[in-house]
Amino acid sequence: FWPGRSTAGCRGIGQLQRQELQSIEDCRWPISAVYNHRMSLQRTLAIIKPDAVERKLAGRILQRIEDEGFRVRAMRRMALTQAQAEGFYAVHAARPFFASLTSFMASGPAIVLVLEAEDAIAKWRTLMGATDPAKADAGTLRKEFAESIERNATHGSDAPETAAVEIADRKS
Ligand code: UDP
Ligand code: MG
Repeated sequence: FWPGRSTAGCRGIGQLQRQELQSIEDCRWPISAVYNHRMSLQRTLAIIKPDAVERKLAGRILQRIEDEGFRVRAMRRMALTQAQAEGFYAVHAARPFFASLTSFMASGPAIVLVLEAEDAIAKWRTLMGATDPAKADAGTLRKEFAESIERNATHGSDAPETAAVEIADRKS
């Protein structure tokens, strides 16, 4: 700790918001604690799928993303090739819906996003809702925008390891 600095008006590290970090010099917390707090921000890969882009829902979905407090760290409109779609969903290669899913994902442009927030992976999956819109909670993106279990408007990474791979691969 930094002797001589006041703790008056300081909030706990867990309550500090990122945009408040410039005021950290007024507090006694060691800089390592601030650094560790910043490192708890997480990134996830999100996709606004071709069904939603085609129906001009991208703007409304982006508004929800910003309203929920995510930062958009990268955004790119991409028309996936069939091979790229198959690579992206390789984990599902043995599933009966694989051919249909990958041709849908290659059927038109998608918008690929890197989203950042505290606990971004789980937070984005909560905002998306269940894979099947019939099972998605009210207020979720898939409940509101998905057409079917396949054409379900959005993608989100499911774990830190897959998020890292999907974010790294998104330019290739
Ligand atoms: N999907 C499908 N039929 C199914 C399950 C999934 O067409 O029975 C599609 C759907 O577009 C889903 C994607 O395959 O988003 C990947 O499936 P996953 O189980 O990983 O769901 P997600 O992580 O997207 O919720
Ligand atoms: Mg998945």
